Amino acid sequence: MSTRGRAHEKTLDPEDWDSMRALGHRMMDDVLDYIITLRDRPVWQHAPPEIKSHFRQHAPPEPTPPERVYQEYLDTVLPFQIGNSHPRYWGWVTGSGTVMGMLAELLAASTDAVSGAFAYQSNNYVEMQVLDWCKEMLNYPRESSGLLTSGCSASNLIALAVARNTRAGFDVRTHGLRDTPSGMTVYCSDEAHSSIQKAVELLGLGCDSLRRVPVTGSLQMDLEALKSLIKEDRSAGLLPLCVVGVAGTTNTAAIDDLDSIADICAMEKCWFHVDGAFGAWAAIAPDYRHLVTGMNRADSLAFDLHKWMYLQYPIGCILVRDADLHRQAFSLTPTYLAHGEGDRGLTGVDVPWLSDYGFELSRGFHALKAWMTIKEQGTAKYGQVIQQNIEQAHYLGTLVDAAPELELALPVSLNIVNFRYARPGISKERLDQLNKQIECELQEQGIAVPSSVTIRGSKYLHVAITNHRSRCDDFDLLVREVIRMGRALS
Ligand SMILES: *Cc1c(COP(=O)(O)O)cnc(C)c1O
Repeated sequence: MSTRGRAHEKTLDPEDWDSMRALGHRMMDDVLDYIITLRDRPVWQHAPPEIKSHFRQHAPPEPTPPERVYQEYLDTVLPFQIGNSHPRYWGWVTGSGTVMGMLAELLAASTDAVSGAFAYQSNNYVEMQVLDWCKEMLNYPRESSGLLTSGCSASNLIALAVARNTRAGFDVRTHGLRDTPSGMTVYCSDEAHSSIQKAVELLGLGCDSLRRVPVTGSLQMDLEALKSLIKEDRSAGLLPLCVVGVAGTTNTAAIDDLDSIADICAMEKCWFHVDGAFGAWAAIAPDYRHLVTGMNRADSLAFDLHKWMYLQYPIGCILVRDADLHRQAFSLTPTYLAHGEGDRGLTGVDVPWLSDYGFELSRGFHALKAWMTIKEQGTAKYGQVIQQNIEQAHYLGTLVDAAPELELALPVSLNIVNFRYARPGISKERLDQLNKQIECELQEQGIAVPSSVTIRGSKYLHVAITNHRSRCDDFDLLVREVIRMGRALS
């Protein structure tokens, strides 16, 4: 065999390790400097046309020196991201990232660890431990099963699949929905997240079968309406499958009466799913745990760690009370992945194949950033920071109340504040327009990023505080700027 031939074999590893090492060190310095100096920069800036057109070039057939690729990132990518790590980013409901989480992602990437199959490897032990910690923190039964996901959309889909397969009354995995004896229905409030509807559609139930239960004045599910909808559907020969309670709606952080929904589900033999995307974490804020009473009675509990646990995207989680039902919905073992009882006992640790608990086989090692950050910070401090966000929301609420030109949509719930500029004598249409303009100005000038929502037909600025870097001064500044802009624009 000729060694000359081998010399021509290619690899994607660096040609020059020393300069790649130097570049890596430079990147490490740059990313830490970036986070340390976040406050000195605009929260967000618009990408100019020349930046947008930069992304229309063809795939490069020839190599580019690594330093130049990095420079291009610095010039064209870094400045024009959404800005959610900034202390004054409160749009939609978005996490802010942790430094340890960032470093953990580098470590996970360094071994290119794939998580899911292959039970006996350390990254699955880490994931199992993170799942156990989530159960502990959220007071969910230890025997439950779980899976880290790419976010709450995936978690909701997995949960509703288990609910459907369990409650349908026939073998859905074998027969599909071809011969469904009776239509199946799912219930959630008008304020529930769109991912619930997507899940219902993906599961073949059709969005017509998603009953949108009206809400009360505080935007919680109206339980009398829920009961009568279930009753009507039953007498029409339909099969009520599942009720989805929300712990923290995206618009207003309203929390459904989870304890009462659990009672109704027990009585009606419905699956009880809780979408606790961010609000589930109120469970670890010392003075606010009571807000999610009843959450741990759910048959399945979905939540994110990339929103109110502040970890880097993506990381969500699904927990299912009955591990067997969870596994029955997803377990499938082709011969090339055969694993059996014989594998156990090699290490004495019985770790399941996580691919038996969801629809994905290969997944990234997302557990590591959770494991390292939770260890670094401790659960007590996490609880305090979450509580701090709730207190900041109340602080912002008092600032708004004290300003005659500002108006809250509703009393502050949890960590979300919806308010608007509303000087008397301005028409409703103009107020909607004006508040949209204020939102855009705040964003485009890089001052702060709230988003906006429509509540009872009117536009409000939406401030969702899932940010461990925000300080009270940041909210003072927001209120000052909203008033200044409101006056200037009206
Ligand atoms: C954000 C959110 C979701 C979807 O979660 P992703 O992580 O974005 O997929 C679901 N429900 C609620 C209440 C949310 O706020």
